[in-house]
Amino acid sequence: MSKTVTYIDIHGHVNFPNFDADREAVIQNAERDGVAMITVGTDMNTSTSAVQLATLHENIWATVGVHPTDSKEPVDFEALERLAGHPKVVAIGECGLDYFHSKIEEISGQKDIFEKHIVLAQKVGKPLMLHVRNGKTAGSTSEIGNAYQDALKILKEYPNVKANFHFFAGTLADLKDIIARGYSVSFTGVITFTSDYDELVRSAPLSQIMSETDCPFVPPAPYRGKRNEPVYVIETIKSIARIRNEAEGIVAEKLLDNAKKFFKL
Ligand SMILES: [Zn+2]
Repeated sequence: MSKTVTYIDIHGHVNFPNFDADREAVIQNAERDGVAMITVGTDMNTSTSAVQLATLHENIWATVGVHPTDSKEPVDFEALERLAGHPKVVAIGECGLDYFHSKIEEISGQKDIFEKHIVLAQKVGKPLMLHVRNGKTAGSTSEIGNAYQDALKILKEYPNVKANFHFFAGTLADLKDIIARGYSVSFTGVITFTSDYDELVRSAPLSQIMSETDCPFVPPAPYRGKRNEPVYVIETIKSIARIRNEAEGIVAEKLLDNAKKFFKL
């Protein structure tokens, strides 16, 4: 990582087609403002393109994995393992459980593929980038269950594997369980325009929080309605500091340090 890096977006998708027309300009916007980034794969194609981007840029790293809603097709774990060994691949994922977009009969297949990602993470000694999303009601006790609690149950069998819950949107009880187990959570630009997550942002220790955009999705205020991009992670970081009533500079430094340690950057 170059010395000019001040911030980090630990979860974005600049590898997606949304950036085909101006990807290098978007990367330069981030570079100019001292923003490093981790580019996240969601299937074999985007995992491959994430690795390619990471090889081309000093301050870009990659994750490889298959998103739970993309895991209806069989996953080629041998090919994934070959990608996972690349030195700029810093995590396995995004993988996990998505009960929001899924039918109840798809859940057991999702759990199986999730567990295979955990086994891969353990094998290559890299952490997990988790996508976990509850059903329509947060903290749902509906028939489909609570995705966070189900994920924690599966992870329990693999105590040596570290994990970050990206775009954390569970309950305070879920957060407490995640923190107690030593995992981390990351927040997106959503926290810039709703106070729904304030209690969560305040409740987690700063050492177990990371910053992300999930671009091109969920742009922060004041960029709502536009395409999101990694440089906007600065808005998320400012909001974390504001919500926690802590100094911006100290929060930015700590969030970067958390990512450096977690992903071994
Ligand atoms: Zn994502």
